[in-house]
Amino acid sequence: MERLKRILVKVGTSAIKNGSGIDQELVNDYARQIAWLRRNYGIETIIVSSGAIASGRVLEPNLTRSIIDKQVAAMFGQPELMTAWRRAFQRQDMIAGEALLKDDDLENFRYPLLRALQFGVVVINGNDVTYNQDAEEEIISADNDRLSRVVANRCGVGLLIMLTEAEGILDEDRKVISNIASYSDLHRISFFERTQEGIGGPGSKLLEARKFITDATKIAYIAGARMENVILRIATGERVGTRVTLPLQGFLNI
Ligand code: GLU
Repeated sequence: MERLKRILVKVGTSAIKNGSGIDQELVNDYARQIAWLRRNYGIETIIVSSGAIASGRVLEPNLTRSIIDKQVAAMFGQPELMTAWRRAFQRQDMIAGEALLKDDDLENFRYPLLRALQFGVVVINGNDVTYNQDAEEEIISADNDRLSRVVANRCGVGLLIMLTEAEGILDEDRKVISNIASYSDLHRISFFERTQEGIGGPGSKLLEARKFITDATKIAYIAGARMENVILRIATGERVGTRVTLPLQGFLNI
């Protein structure tokens, strides 16, 4: 693999939560891998992490499924989520910052983000609490698959790693497809089970992964959130999960 300067790791709600909120051990493990990559290869990491709404619901179980209560869950849960990341990076002697974004914030975000990455990591989530309450249920929580791809496209990321519950994109026999590099690979895919929480699912991940591939230097992976050393192995060139190098034809990067 060509020398990597910057990666983006996206973690979904179902991967990062456990019965009592955020899975601190998993977050610690990611921080260890990300710190190792920084120390040994100088690789900068942007993290896009979901889990605020799920975490807020654990703190206040009386919240309903209404849009306003989702926003409240995000208000309660986001500090929990960020505390888990901050703690994890503190153990690695690394500073971790936070940015809550909507699409239209991205224009002004690039330079502060790149500057922050010189010092530590930045954990990004969609800014769920400021969504228009008349909006459709579906768009209340910012789609972090899309957000991670847009940030990756705009901020010089060479490798996009999307971590999911499944160990990659699955074929009809529920086996991981190791490479999506051609149109014939696409025909092997079995879709579109939606995850219970979060609005992602394999279909949205693959779409965003393909939108990320704007030239031959870019690679995206969709891989299992709990696979051992998953971030480390992918960033050092090992094939883990599904490797995506097939661009979305006709897609113009913004
Ligand atoms: N921003 C939401 C949360 O942190 C999740 C949105 C998504 O997974 O796309 O709970």
